[in-house]
Amino acid sequence: LFVDADLAQSAEITLDKDQSLYLAAVLRKAIGDEAVLFNGRDGAWLCRLTADSKKSVALQCVEQIAPQPPRLDLWYGFAPLKNERLDYVIQKAVEMGTGTIQPVMTQLTQVHRLKTDRLHANAIEAAEQCEVLNVPEIAPEVTLERLLACWPVEHAERQLIFADEAAASASPLETLQSLKGKKVGLLIGPEGGFSPSEREKLLSLSFVTPISLGPRILRADTAAVAALAVIQATIGDWR
Ligand code: SAM
Repeated sequence: LFVDADLAQSAEITLDKDQSLYLAAVLRKAIGDEAVLFNGRDGAWLCRLTADSKKSVALQCVEQIAPQPPRLDLWYGFAPLKNERLDYVIQKAVEMGTGTIQPVMTQLTQVHRLKTDRLHANAIEAAEQCEVLNVPEIAPEVTLERLLACWPVEHAERQLIFADEAAASASPLETLQSLKGKKVGLLIGPEGGFSPSEREKLLSLSFVTPISLGPRILRADTAAVAALAVIQATIGDWR
């Protein structure tokens, strides 16, 4: 369970109403039972329930069972998709391992109002389900124009891998292997793809590396998972 509290030997944690209800009523945990808590900073802690009311469960930290892993250093930018597809890309980005997730507004992006709270809640839920101790940071949305203008300063020495369905359909493996050891980011376009002028701009920049994910056009959410998988397989876990 993710908690927004410091975890340390003997620390006492009181859960909020929803988490208390989940532990006491859904998982039927009672005083003396154990639960594992994490906060994205202090590793995973085995804790014991000291109060089990459905409105307010309290726990005490017993021992750290996993250290906090180093923060993953993969930036992932995506043009926001609608509803469930947006939830899906956030969940998969957490499962596949990313350090920062940033919504990028492009000319053909169809979603203009984003609920950052929902993105964050989704990231936490995915981390809880998959025992990912690092919850990615959700960075504020940015326009593609601003992102690219600020990239050399804000992402110094990070190469931006651009998933480009119009790229020559050669395997991305060699290209990605040549980036091994470097900091990287991944950019995926919206349902309608990048506009011709956006694509032209991206291809003109020295910090952008285009990759193809095969000769077929993938849905944006599929492309995100496929790209994260090939990056994972070639560049490693971004440390
Ligand atoms: N209309 C579909 C949808 O609703 O998802 C397809 C959208 S596709 C144009 C969206 C993005 O996925 C593209 O901008 C690109 O970043 C990525 N993409 C899709 N197929 C790809 C491929 N074969 N190679 C590289 N990137 C791809």
